[in-house]
Amino acid sequence: MQINFAKLAKKSVRASAAYSSARSLVSKAKVFLDANENSFGSVLPKISKVDLSRYPDPLAERLCEQYAKYAGVAKNKVLIGNGSDEIIWLLLLAFVEANEEILTTAPTFSMYRVFAELLGLKVSEVALEEDYSLDIQKFLKKVSAKTKLIFLCSPNNPTGQTVPCVDVEKVLRKGKLVIVDEAYIEFSPQKSCAKLLKQYPNLIILRTFSKAWGLAGLRVGVALADSAVIAILQKVRAPYSVDGLSQQLALDALTRSAKMKVAVKKILSEREKLTAALWKLGLIVSPSEANFLLVQFPSGVSATKVYEKLVKQFGIVVRDFSAKKLLKNSLRITVGTPAENSKLAVALKKILK
Ligand code: PMP
Repeated sequence: MQINFAKLAKKSVRASAAYSSARSLVSKAKVFLDANENSFGSVLPKISKVDLSRYPDPLAERLCEQYAKYAGVAKNKVLIGNGSDEIIWLLLLAFVEANEEILTTAPTFSMYRVFAELLGLKVSEVALEEDYSLDIQKFLKKVSAKTKLIFLCSPNNPTGQTVPCVDVEKVLRKGKLVIVDEAYIEFSPQKSCAKLLKQYPNLIILRTFSKAWGLAGLRVGVALADSAVIAILQKVRAPYSVDGLSQQLALDALTRSAKMKVAVKKILSEREKLTAALWKLGLIVSPSEANFLLVQFPSGVSATKVYEKLVKQFGIVVRDFSAKKLLKNSLRITVGTPAENSKLAVALKKILK
């Protein structure tokens, strides 16, 4: 697959000179008087060996290196962002001109559309089928000359299904930049599509520390892509968007991948139990490869009313998706601990009585 990288970024991005932060020029020295930091130190002590008086490594090099090893890719194919949310924003900012479009599915993770609309960009969508699977032929037909970025979320939020890598490959062959958002991939039996990176320089994989790693509070996301794509994203990123403490803690987390895998196993087992409990209540639960369930309520029961009762009467908050296109009278429920799941099941039983 040949990609013309010289013309890939937006015109304005190509024309602009990249900002070079103080710390990216010389990172190893004895005395740092280059970045207007407080030379007398921080009001806080070091946390996890991180001196908070200093700006962090702008490129998060150590984290890129370790994540590259974890993901089995080269170090220059990794970008760290302030959550994968930031990377979605950067992708739109770097690549899509005002007269171009993004293409995605409906329903899917809403931030693709939210960010695109904030930038005044058009969003083209292909509706998922009744069973929330993606008709790949239908999707391929929607790829047009105007399409600049394609977003596929796999497993998809909020429906929980994956797009098979063979279908991703069909989309990649269209020659557009294709983002496969794998925020929930650790919960799925499907292997990551990252193996396609070698063959397809137009593939961008998104990952996050917010889900399986249990670090949503840190705000660390990852892009895996061709080094030329990574370089363009670095150009539009604020130099210090990922703070030093988050970089260090994400590095620490990577040494504990066995612990992450144990947590994933627990969540999967709870997901199966919760699914069974919800079916027993007469609800329709979509098969999920993520850490949440999409639950459809029978026609006589308003999902929104159930949502409100869960909050007001039981202090349980889930996500009401009943107003979302194609999501019929449904709530999205994150798999909780055994105690939380049984509280939820008891509450739903009372509400549905
Ligand atoms: N992608 C998907 C599919 C998500 O569901 C989320 C969070 N809900 C994100 C990306 C963003 O994750 P974060 O910014 O926490 O990395």
